[in-house]
Amino acid sequence: MTSPVSEAAQNLVNSIDRVAIVGAGTMGNGIAQVFAQSAYDVVIIDPFEGALERARGTIENSLGRMVKKEKLTTDDAEAVLGRITFEAGIEAASGARWGIEAVPEDEALKESVISSLDEQISEGGVIASNTSSISITRLANFSDRPESFVGMHFMNPVPMMKLVEVIRGHKTSDTVVEATLELSRRLGKEPWEVQDYPGFVANRILAPMLNEAIYALMEGVATRESIDEVMKLGMGHPMGPLALADFIGLDVCLNILELLQSELGDPKYRPCPLLRRMVAAGDLGRKSGRGFYDYS
Ligand code: NAD
Repeated sequence: MTSPVSEAAQNLVNSIDRVAIVGAGTMGNGIAQVFAQSAYDVVIIDPFEGALERARGTIENSLGRMVKKEKLTTDDAEAVLGRITFEAGIEAASGARWGIEAVPEDEALKESVISSLDEQISEGGVIASNTSSISITRLANFSDRPESFVGMHFMNPVPMMKLVEVIRGHKTSDTVVEATLELSRRLGKEPWEVQDYPGFVANRILAPMLNEAIYALMEGVATRESIDEVMKLGMGHPMGPLALADFIGLDVCLNILELLQSELGDPKYRPCPLLRRMVAAGDLGRKSGRGFYDYS
């Protein structure tokens, strides 16, 4: 059941002309694509050499796959790409009504990006963060508009995954929360509101489950294949926990567990020593070619 959207929230969403996304990596390019597929003009901003070309290539490939599967026509795919501009400087966000930061999970970096984005987004506009785990209330303080700052936690891969966790910071206004839920629906997503506590809902529950699977492997409870198959066949998960940890990145899993442990102060979140050892060895999962499985 979705509750009716207030007029103020509808007006805010209707007023969005252009969306500015900062950070053209895994998440940023997926977010840009889903906005452009829903007919929004998008500017994607990344100052790092090669990032914009890679983002364009990833979006082109993703749209190409959709054309092959006959989910889009070639003309539609071209129109989607035509709605996205690729820029290096933050000034390209000037006057946009909705900004989204999708830079790496580093609070100091997010501080500098959010304060510069705040200078560009129009008055009355909203800034959203795609952070996986940093407090929305803390990030909101890096802007001058904490009531118009919200968490918009898309899942990877963004064009495929329906969920958006909409995170209400301590000062986020009701109108902005409702507008974010409504905007997510207009993107074809299924948003759910959550409060600003460490790990929100998705990572609060997922990270300890992955950690427990790694403990089970370390303690010799079962082989990696057995652990993954038990969870797939028994729980209906599409991917086993060890394969999923490899997909997410073992360094990312470790960061989330460390954050849950330090912010909630409960030893039940302690990262498994095997996870720490693999990260120290550089076996980070798919992205490094090796994790619990070999991808070379
Ligand atoms: P990524 O490393 O793939 O991409 C980050 C991009 O930000 C890079 O292209 C980098 O060049 C760019 N960048 C760095 N500094 C910048 C700056 N000052 N200005 C503009 N761009 C800058 O990271 P990602 O996986 O896309 O993650 C981005 C955010 O999304 C993080 O907060 C992460 O926790 C969150 N997130 C990630 C996932 C995931 O599965 N990857 C899922 C949900 C949320």
